[in-house]
Amino acid sequence: MQFPDLGLKPELLAAVAEKGYTVPTPIQIAAIPPVLAGRDVLAGAQTGTGKTAGFVLPILQRLGVRAPQGPRALILTPTRELAAQVEESVRHYGKNTNLRSTVIFGGVSERPQIAALRTGCDVLVATPGRLLDLAQQQALSLAHVQVFVLDEADRMLDMGFIHAIKRIRAMLPKQRQNLMFSATYSDDIRRLAEGSLHDPVKVEVTPPNRTADKVEQVSYRLPKEHKRHLLAHLINEGNWHQVLIFTRTKHGANRLAEQLERAGIPAAPIHGNKSQNARVRALEDFKSNRIVALVATEVAARGLDIKELPHVVNYELPNVPEDYVHRIGRTARAGSTGKAVSLVSPDEAPFLKDIVKLLGVEIPSLPLPEFKIIETAPGAGHDRAERENRPEHRRTERPSAQHPPRGQRQRQRQGSAAPTRDHRGAKVRPAAGESGRAAAPSSSQPARSQGARRAPPWAKRGR
Ligand code: AMP
Repeated sequence: MQFPDLGLKPELLAAVAEKGYTVPTPIQIAAIPPVLAGRDVLAGAQTGTGKTAGFVLPILQRLGVRAPQGPRALILTPTRELAAQVEESVRHYGKNTNLRSTVIFGGVSERPQIAALRTGCDVLVATPGRLLDLAQQQALSLAHVQVFVLDEADRMLDMGFIHAIKRIRAMLPKQRQNLMFSATYSDDIRRLAEGSLHDPVKVEVTPPNRTADKVEQVSYRLPKEHKRHLLAHLINEGNWHQVLIFTRTKHGANRLAEQLERAGIPAAPIHGNKSQNARVRALEDFKSNRIVALVATEVAARGLDIKELPHVVNYELPNVPEDYVHRIGRTARAGSTGKAVSLVSPDEAPFLKDIVKLLGVEIPSLPLPEFKIIETAPGAGHDRAERENRPEHRRTERPSAQHPPRGQRQRQRQGSAAPTRDHRGAKVRPAAGESGRAAAPSSSQPARSQGARRAPPWAKRGR
């Protein structure tokens, strides 16, 4: 099957060819014909399958040429980043047409968005909150929408957008085409589909809740406090040049990015507390290899499309197993291969069990490689923040007692600096600044440690 076999117009085929796509992906083969035929579609497609082109191309074809009355296609996405990416796709695939697209999302001034809407818009890509804001201000009308797309519907429900979706749906004309894309199916998704779609064509390209086959998944079992040292080791020794790392909290993302930077690995955090500009900059730096590690929370990373992302690390496992599928879906996108590494501390074992149950396959646990660790006394700096830390998107929490091991607690009471050891127990020299004490000379270990490392080749940045 080739793109021309799907019945797309030459101007769309030219834009596709320019992207370098040679053959359509399974979701494109399955979704494009029914969307072109005007049918409602319910698609179960993982992220990275090429689903965006699967709905954008036929929508552009159906819209034909620009019209003055206001958006005729509305694409709702859960996150700002995804909205921006989808609109970029609309612009690219529609470059040989005269259709106009606009993206609106929160976190930035609404004035340019209102101005863009006034100049005319055929395809509107939006996050639910800002869309409702502008609709309430009468800055936009949804009265002419002919095609309504709910992208990453499962994530929208996870993020609590159900009421917003219902309110938006109520503003649309009754007579319209509806498309819904979701990586996973739950009863809530089924209910949403029943309320949104009319006699939909059901398209399923991968079994729901299964990870992309091409992702190599491994895990390491280790104490929480050793994770960052193993991570730095994996990045340095594996010469990883681009790794997306997931933490459960915004504060955790900030802290880990700082720790990696201190270890000589260029890194930046991306999460909901960052300004939109900071988020865009972090993403651009990551895509253009100016930084090696992007440390993200679940919500911020949703929908990020980074070409051939080779490594994803679950620095902390998600407490909702479906999120694991989304996270590792960031790698091995559209036919490329990738590796997903999970760092699992003892308190996260129940999360891992749930993930394995959902996947139906084991995630191999690898023996720990030799790596240097520098123990820091608990309570020295980040532990208080850790206790105060809250998951960015909190749902059912498992209890996870975080008591430091007895030796550490004793040292903490005595106020002494913890000795530095490699993970097999051999003493190593603490690096200045890590334990808060001057480094003691030691002859038993090589001079290089995580805290005082030489800059790796990529440390030179043009920021
Ligand atoms: P999506 O699932 O829509 O986020 O797309 C994932 C990635 O696949 C994006 O980088 C697209 O540019 C890319 N892509 C989409 N369609 C194709 C195709 N037919 N061949 C190769 N790559 C594609």
